[in-house]
Amino acid sequence: MSKVRAKKHLGQHFLTDIEIAQNIAHSLDTSRHNSILEVGPGMGVLTKYLLNLDSEVFVIEIDKESVCYLKNHFPKLENHIIEGDFLQLPIEEIFKDKVGIIGNFPYNISSQILFKAVDHKNTISEIVGMFQKEVAERVASAPGKKVYGIISVLLQCYYDIEYLFAVNEDVFDPPPKVKSAVIRLRRNQREDLPCDEKKFIRTVKTAFSMRRKTLRNALKSLNLVDEIKAKKFLDLRAEQLSVEDFFELTDCFE
Ligand code: SAH
Repeated sequence: MSKVRAKKHLGQHFLTDIEIAQNIAHSLDTSRHNSILEVGPGMGVLTKYLLNLDSEVFVIEIDKESVCYLKNHFPKLENHIIEGDFLQLPIEEIFKDKVGIIGNFPYNISSQILFKAVDHKNTISEIVGMFQKEVAERVASAPGKKVYGIISVLLQCYYDIEYLFAVNEDVFDPPPKVKSAVIRLRRNQREDLPCDEKKFIRTVKTAFSMRRKTLRNALKSLNLVDEIKAKKFLDLRAEQLSVEDFFELTDCFE
């Protein structure tokens, strides 16, 4: 069977460097989960190495042509290929235990994939994958950096994040317009937040919506109830606050 024809609207850029594929697959810690779900396997360059790991492997692929290719080339995947959209997948219905997510992800839905992980944080124990380099840097960024933002805080709240390595565009067919990088997110110990989660998300989003302003100005639309506690933060900007700082800040508002 011939190769899958790359479709731009599905973010298809097939990885051609098998060493990189192997490195990505081996970055998963299989002891952390009961099964692995690969998002967007395409022609299975990563899948091949995942199937050698000591774990049950599922894949979800939206592209019919790729699904057909996988069925032909990977008989071992029988009954483990889900044809559909990862963003619509009811994770907890399919995975009763911990699952590790892996992929050379479609870049057009990177943030949505990551936010989905936060929504299913108690099932998704690890994520390893390739993203657009800019997104990878943002997610892994420490406070104080220009790229530190909403997605950094919300993900770092529940995951320990490592930036593993950068990948050049010339190892993809067709090459993407942007550079790529592989990151790893491992679920941390945090269960319940020390503050209300909805309020926390609102505070983080509002703080970063005017990221160049001091928090005193950026958070004007919220009702400050504990000025004494908030004092140490109000002259800072959102990007200077750690996840724990945001917990404290959240409690200062109604
Ligand atoms: N893993 C392969 C392909 C990467 S390209 C490789 O490294 O070569 C991204 C893949 O994600 C494509 O196969 C594309 O069809 C698939 N994809 C795009 N959107 C998707 C979605 N919403 N759900 C599942 N798969 C998706």
